[in-house]
Amino acid sequence: MTTRVFLMNPPSELYRRDDRCQSKVDDQTVRVVFPPIELGVLASIAREEGAEVALKDYPTVGGTGEQFERDICSFRPDLILLNTTAHTIAQDMEAFRIARKHFPKVMTVAKGEAVAVQAERILREFPHLDIVLDGEAEDTVRELVAGRPRESVAGVIWRDGDGRVVHNPERPMVEPLDRLPLPARDLFDNHLYVSPENAQPITAIYAQRGCPAKCIFCPAGSMFGYKVRERSVGNVMRELTECVGKYGIRNFLFHGDTFTLHKKWLIDLCRAIVDAGLEIRWGCNSRVDTIDDERAAWMRRAGCWVVAFGFEHANQEILDKMKKGQRAERAFEAAAVCRRNGLKVHGFFVIGMPWETRQTLEEIYRFVRRLNPDFFDFNIAYPLPGTEFYEIVERDGLWEAPDPTKGGYAQAAVRTYALSSAELTAWRRQALLRMYARPSYIYRTLRHAAATGNTSHYARAAVRRLSSLLSIR
Ligand code: SF4
Repeated sequence: MTTRVFLMNPPSELYRRDDRCQSKVDDQTVRVVFPPIELGVLASIAREEGAEVALKDYPTVGGTGEQFERDICSFRPDLILLNTTAHTIAQDMEAFRIARKHFPKVMTVAKGEAVAVQAERILREFPHLDIVLDGEAEDTVRELVAGRPRESVAGVIWRDGDGRVVHNPERPMVEPLDRLPLPARDLFDNHLYVSPENAQPITAIYAQRGCPAKCIFCPAGSMFGYKVRERSVGNVMRELTECVGKYGIRNFLFHGDTFTLHKKWLIDLCRAIVDAGLEIRWGCNSRVDTIDDERAAWMRRAGCWVVAFGFEHANQEILDKMKKGQRAERAFEAAAVCRRNGLKVHGFFVIGMPWETRQTLEEIYRFVRRLNPDFFDFNIAYPLPGTEFYEIVERDGLWEAPDPTKGGYAQAAVRTYALSSAELTAWRRQALLRMYARPSYIYRTLRHAAATGNTSHYARAAVRRLSSLLSIR
């Protein structure tokens, strides 16, 4: 009998279900939704094991619990897997309760950093959840779909017949990444995911995993390791070519915690894109210490138009305490490299770490004005379980939100030693409004929008952003 595998982002508000970033989509300045690539890879793996697969991204289409119920009743799954976040766990588990009602024997599996680091508690609290995936999911899912008994599958945490939570041995990281199949994009509604720049179809390419940094608010390293693993250039090119040729997608985000880290790999990839004549437009993440003119020039030639940096903060002491491992002033050099090479800069800043004060907020505001990035966000730090920041918040009693799962980049859930969560939320809102309302910023952004033929698109995005900021209380 063929296994029937149902993969999903379950019905909920729209969150980035990406372990490193679990924010509400509408909390971000640049509103963009990417297809669930990780689920797409798992779908390909399940197919390789002979399974029949359905894949649903309910939050992107505003899908409801009733819709989910109808879908599973018609698909009749043997295994359901969902991707969860720190903010949505309880809601996500409701999907398993519904599934169990109809299919008492269905295997229910949850993945995600948020559930992995508190698996013991979650498995006790939610009896309809059978298995939590710990570490990278692909090889584990392959074995589960192939029918291997859960007690012999590495990388799972599960409940035995006596209700005891069992931690199986750890699953080694996937290496090389090239042995993973490409995501099953035929299962995505590709037209749902559009570029915030030009409203054309967009997708993400997961070209690397791991991050050598140990920022105390970020689970990237603990989930994917501190060694950066890259797919080969040929393997990434195979995916790009498929996206362009088969799906007509020409806008990309290279998802990778530090995409520009390994210079040779980066330049080889850019050269391959140029040589293949792929006319694509893309963005990526970088760090201030892994960008230079040679890299930036190649990136531009290969279609890159925007580079995102986690500048995080202006205050060196706070940067050091958050273990970012970079000099604040280096941001200016990185931004200058990008500008010299025709690349836009998207700056991410984190406020609300425990050491934040009125004065450090003022510092960050002046810093961002001086740096003047093309796009920017002040994200309020949220203590994700499993991070060092979470430990500090628990130890020092910094929670203020009545429900810790509430709160996020726009709405502070915790206070600092000097500021309340309400003060942080209000500061962010006002600071963003003041920064966006600068005439010079509006003029520059409109000029860019006009030059790329996207004026009406930018205008709509600005109105949406403004009303979202004004609605924050
Ligand atoms: S540099 Fe820091 S914030 Fe960025 S992915 Fe690595 S650990 Fe996370």
